[in-house]
Amino acid sequence: MSETSTTLPLPDQAREFGFFVDGDYVMAGDRELFERSSPAHDVPVSKIVKCSQDDLNDAVAAARRAFDDRRWSGLPGAQRAAVLLKAAAGIRARAEELAYFETLENGKPISQSRGEVEAAAGIYEYAAGAARALHGDSFNNLGDKLFGLVTREPVGVVGLITPWNFPFFILSERVPFILASGCTIVAKPSEVTSATTLIMAEILKEAGLPDGVYNVVTGSGSTVGQALIEHTDIDMVSFTGSTAVGHKVLAAAQGNFKKLGLELGGKNPQVVFADANLEDAADGVTFGICFNTGQCCVSGSRLIVEKSIAAEFEALLKERFAKVRVGDPLDPETQVGAITTNAQNDTITHYMESGKKSGARLVCGGDVIESEHGQYIQPTLFADVTSDMEIAKDEIFGPVLTMHTFESVDEAISIANDTIYGLAASVWSKNIDKALKASRQIQAGRMWINCTLAGGPELPIGGFKQSGWGRETGIYGVEEYTQIKSTHIELGDRDHWLS
Ligand code: NAP
Ligand code: MG
Repeated sequence: MSETSTTLPLPDQAREFGFFVDGDYVMAGDRELFERSSPAHDVPVSKIVKCSQDDLNDAVAAARRAFDDRRWSGLPGAQRAAVLLKAAAGIRARAEELAYFETLENGKPISQSRGEVEAAAGIYEYAAGAARALHGDSFNNLGDKLFGLVTREPVGVVGLITPWNFPFFILSERVPFILASGCTIVAKPSEVTSATTLIMAEILKEAGLPDGVYNVVTGSGSTVGQALIEHTDIDMVSFTGSTAVGHKVLAAAQGNFKKLGLELGGKNPQVVFADANLEDAADGVTFGICFNTGQCCVSGSRLIVEKSIAAEFEALLKERFAKVRVGDPLDPETQVGAITTNAQNDTITHYMESGKKSGARLVCGGDVIESEHGQYIQPTLFADVTSDMEIAKDEIFGPVLTMHTFESVDEAISIANDTIYGLAASVWSKNIDKALKASRQIQAGRMWINCTLAGGPELPIGGFKQSGWGRETGIYGVEEYTQIKSTHIELGDRDHWLS
């Protein structure tokens, strides 16, 4: 049997990580440690340092020096690209170690972690090209005496806050673009999933990234995260997480008018028309809500299905939900692993109870899966859901799907848009008029037609409405970390103001 087809063993002991400042790991010393246990096995897997305000100040100062002396932004894009390409190779060389820690800390299936690590390497390769493609504009239409240039300059020191649901993948949708732009970074991963962000520091250093360009502080969001978003030597905050903490980022930014990139929550519609290939749609809808245990900002969590096929489609889903392989994430056959935190487990349980009490009809699931270790939840479907119910409005962030019905395209669009969020949406139909009308009128930053959760770094991601500000990935993802300067150049002799 190959290494990738056997269930991996648990670690003998937790690995202790230092935080990373100015090119070196700093071990705990007298500082307190936070110990993380695997949510699937209840076994300690990693220890990280609880950084102090002084530690944060050191990291920000290192990033500031590295930005201000132009050791990175002053290089040709080709040289930044070379570092990003080497980083991609470094990720591949350490793929198994990265995937292992991702699964141990997050609870996601090892096969999925391996796929995300490989995809992350590909994002670095894409961003390497973007480092070279980034350019400005010129204005040749100002008359013979005046010439205009528009240049893009890196924003500066970026504070990067990432969540626990895709610790390495979301990091990799941000870091290579920030680096491609010439900015420097102080990253703060979620304290429950910091390992891969810390391993990445070594990979980037070995790829030739100058000291001080990528720094990582660790600890909780309410302490070191809050201090980071308030820090006045940080020029921009890129935050991915809940809309609730997004409000705090917005408030903290006012101190020095930081630029903000915000990737927040979603309550993403899956619109299924009667003329869709229902087998494909049922598979896609199942994948869209079960993938990553529904702990996915772009999970398709609101099914909006045409009334004439609702009963048939419900039966197709029920059959598929029962087949999803939920279990030990270290087993390569597992499709859905453990819920990442106790708090999230409680949140999902709360919503399943709320659904039952609200009068929605429980079609399947609706409970935790009994197991000796770890926290697992059954893929859950509620039908007869109305938009006033809590389960229809709130982002649950678990494998809980609500089903709504419609009778016209306009009604489908109206239900799809009946949310404060606008992150992503899917439409299933073989009728191009219906599919395109819905995709053009649904308010979401990312649309999928006859697919879901598909794509690569070429297309940008981000939200409409309360799902956030700005875009990540694609050429837009590099531009996000730049600011624009206009330069006016007068040619020839000046027409004097004073005669
Ligand atoms: P969260 O509580 O908002 O945490 C996100 C990050 O912010 C973590 O690193 C967290 O650190 C940190 N944080 C918490 N409080 C902070 C504060 N006061 N100041 C600065 N940083 C703070 O979100 P979560 O519960 O981890 O993740 C789930 C949410 O993220 C969902 O709502 C989901 O939709 C959203 N999300 C969105 C996207 C997207 O691309 N749009 C992607 C993934 C997740 P600690 O964990 O160490 O406390
Ligand atoms: Mg949190």
